[in-house]
Amino acid sequence: MYNPKSLKAEEFIDHNEVEDTLNYAEQNKNNVKLIDEIIEKAKRRKGLSHREASVLMACDLPEKIAECYDLAEQIKKDFYGNRIVMFAPLYLSNYCVNGCVYCPYHMKNKHIARKKLTQEEIVREVTALQDMGHKRLAIEAGEHPEINPIEYILESINTIYSIKHKNGAIRRVNVNIAATTVENYRKLKDAGIGTYILFQETYHKESYLKLHPTGPKHDYAYHTEAMGRAMEGGIDDVGLGVLFGLELYKYEFAALLMHAEHLEAVHGVGPHTISVPRIKRADDIDPDMFDNGIDDETFAKICALIRISVPYTGMIISTRESKAVREKVIRLGVSQISGASKTSVGGYSQPEPEEENSAQFDVSDQRTLDEVVKWLMELGYIPSFCTACYREGRTGDRFMSLCKSGQIANCCHPNALMTLKEFLMDYASTETRKIGEALIAAEVNNIPKEKVREICRDHLEKIEHGIRD
Ligand code: SAM
Repeated sequence: MYNPKSLKAEEFIDHNEVEDTLNYAEQNKNNVKLIDEIIEKAKRRKGLSHREASVLMACDLPEKIAECYDLAEQIKKDFYGNRIVMFAPLYLSNYCVNGCVYCPYHMKNKHIARKKLTQEEIVREVTALQDMGHKRLAIEAGEHPEINPIEYILESINTIYSIKHKNGAIRRVNVNIAATTVENYRKLKDAGIGTYILFQETYHKESYLKLHPTGPKHDYAYHTEAMGRAMEGGIDDVGLGVLFGLELYKYEFAALLMHAEHLEAVHGVGPHTISVPRIKRADDIDPDMFDNGIDDETFAKICALIRISVPYTGMIISTRESKAVREKVIRLGVSQISGASKTSVGGYSQPEPEEENSAQFDVSDQRTLDEVVKWLMELGYIPSFCTACYREGRTGDRFMSLCKSGQIANCCHPNALMTLKEFLMDYASTETRKIGEALIAAEVNNIPKEKVREICRDHLEKIEHGIRD
């Protein structure tokens, strides 16, 4: 029985409720009156229920979809301005005891090179990432209780935070590791992680069991209830995601929103982020093995409808997607992207020889960070390396109190400009720097409060003269 407040996966992602929602959506996909009411509700920027959003997902009326896209674009601007947060994944280990049939890390794959970074190697990898300009990382690891125990993950996080780099430290480490216990989530919280990210892969239980035939990840309830345990362990920023291509996207979309509603109903806070990975070619994996691949237009529709249904959530897109697709979905709602990613273990400090493939999947966007930054700015976005919410030290109490009393425009916007300025000074090519300086000069004027504008100008000048935090 469907119950968003239940702690049981099978009740908050009740299969019958998803099926019923899809039938209701199908019946109403041309019901213009209802569709208009739902779009009107979305305009109030308080989000949509899974049933309402599913009606829009089922709808194929071009003018209604165009309205949704316009609204998604506007909501994105209102909540996030034109900032795009930059991050990079860091693969710690690809040892794994699971049997996920879509993932090259699966235990039976004998031809992938198995690697686990030592702490010294982590220092080298992170330094290579910092040398590019990255400030925010998402660590990734296969599930292997003996080779990658929680102590290894904690030690690695500690190592990352303690690396001193001439241009400043890594200040935010997000973590994407397998579902674990409340006790381990508490340890991750104490280690100072940012967001805990766990992709559901698929919400469809029957498919889930087939796609994860062996290993601890086979346990659907344990996996699906992980965010509740993470929150019990004190982690309040959690990131959801579906691996699109495994199951029917309409099912996943409805269930993903049910998951967000459940978090809100039980914990009073929805997902900090939602990721939208699509299945990719990888060693031992051919995406054509899966029947539910979605085209780029459907993918864009999913992104736009997530944006209007969960307006406050951060939306993440990785280098699984090409430049063209990224360009489209950034406009429709994506707020965080990775750049210059390597999905191999140790791939940042040392390019991997071909015969030694340890990568998780093929990367579509292979541009350098400088190229990605330049591209974003040419499109009118501000690439942000900001982690300011996690580092009062840099901005000081005065700035923080201004932030609290002001809105995003008075806080995140100036922080984004300052971190972009640092990037331009420390890493950018001449051309990128030229474009960036012009962008910053124009964008400073968009800070509403005069006082904040002054502080920002002062900081920018200090950065110009070599002061870093
Ligand atoms: N082992 C952890 C877990 O099970 O959640 C960490 C996850 S793994 C390093 C990160 C994510 O990559 C997975 O959750 C999955 O969604 C995604 N992934 C796996 N195989 C993929 C493929 N062939 N193409 C695209 N994404 C893939």
